[in-house]
Amino acid sequence: MPAIPFLDLQSLNCSLESELDQAFHDVLRSGWFILGEHVSAFEREYAQFSGTRYAVGVANGLDALHIALRVLGVGYGDEVIVPSNTYIATLLSVSFVGATPVLVEPRKTTYNINPEGIEAAITSRTKAIMPVHLYGQAAEMEAIMDIAEKYGIYVVEDNAQAHGAFYNGKPTGSFGHINATSFYPGKNLGALGDAGAITTDNPDYNIRARSWRNYGSQKKYYNEVLGYNSRLDELQAAFLLKKLPLLYSQNAERERLATLYTQNLQGVGDIITPVLADNASSVFHLYVIRTAKRDALQEYLAQQGIGTMIHYPIPPHLQEAYKHQGWKKGQFPIAEEIAETCLSLPLYPGLSDTNVEYVVEHIKRFFATHSA
Ligand SMILES: *Cc1c(COP(=O)(O)O)cnc(C)c1O
Repeated sequence: MPAIPFLDLQSLNCSLESELDQAFHDVLRSGWFILGEHVSAFEREYAQFSGTRYAVGVANGLDALHIALRVLGVGYGDEVIVPSNTYIATLLSVSFVGATPVLVEPRKTTYNINPEGIEAAITSRTKAIMPVHLYGQAAEMEAIMDIAEKYGIYVVEDNAQAHGAFYNGKPTGSFGHINATSFYPGKNLGALGDAGAITTDNPDYNIRARSWRNYGSQKKYYNEVLGYNSRLDELQAAFLLKKLPLLYSQNAERERLATLYTQNLQGVGDIITPVLADNASSVFHLYVIRTAKRDALQEYLAQQGIGTMIHYPIPPHLQEAYKHQGWKKGQFPIAEEIAETCLSLPLYPGLSDTNVEYVVEHIKRFFATHSA
């Protein structure tokens, strides 16, 4: 049995080699590399995919989050509610605009932010909520939008991990006032480099996001805000245009493999398999299990040639970068417990059923020799 990598981007992208070659040649021959027809075409296609009126291509997911907050005018003195168990990027975007991230614990079952915790964390300074569709599962968007409306605050979805997921039949990235996503190579829809996008239904936010990504300028050499250089490259847009049509079937393949894992891992050791909220779907960006023996299991699987990862080993409140916030160990116990027990198993289009069964077999062997 060959080694099973955690993720195989090489075979994933090389299966599309001739289309991607074609995309490269189209851009090369066009002689136009920044904000041209490929970016416009991808923005149209991605907006349609997201069920939003507009999509704005930017350089990466972190910039998409950051620009979304700029568009809303979030800044100094404002508070933004974010999950305590997210990737650091969600918090960084809040810090970049000078606002304060306020952490709210996830549900222990779904790992997505708990709407009850959101309501308890709202103060007169709260300007926005940033739900994250973690590991590919849609957060509880109906409850979150109701809270936002009740208190008159904005919602910015961090959809970096969940392109193609739904809540109540509506796509993630289409609920919030303005939303962000990433096309980092390892995401479900990945470019061949960094890339990201903003989605919104609001024509004014669409125009302002376009300005922020391009030096604060809508008209060349007229600058209205202190903008950024955060444009989606023509080349990446051309690659993404080739990859987007495959996303539905690739997500379906991830879901199928996830179901296979879940069925076969029932009752194995102390393993907890992923749980979906009512009305939420998942595109299984990651297949994350939990076990108290996480570190030993990871080491054992590595010895069998099976790659796994931890998303994420240190929650944001315990990061050196956030020392100044004065958050303490024990303050967000659910985020800490997830960080100590979670393990992401190999899952990607192209992974075979036999591979999944091989991974499961070795997990069973591990627990047979490491029980109680
Ligand atoms: C990947 C990711 C981001 C950042 O995206 P980049 O393109 O790497 O900047 C933000 N939030 C979450 C939840 C992510 O997984």
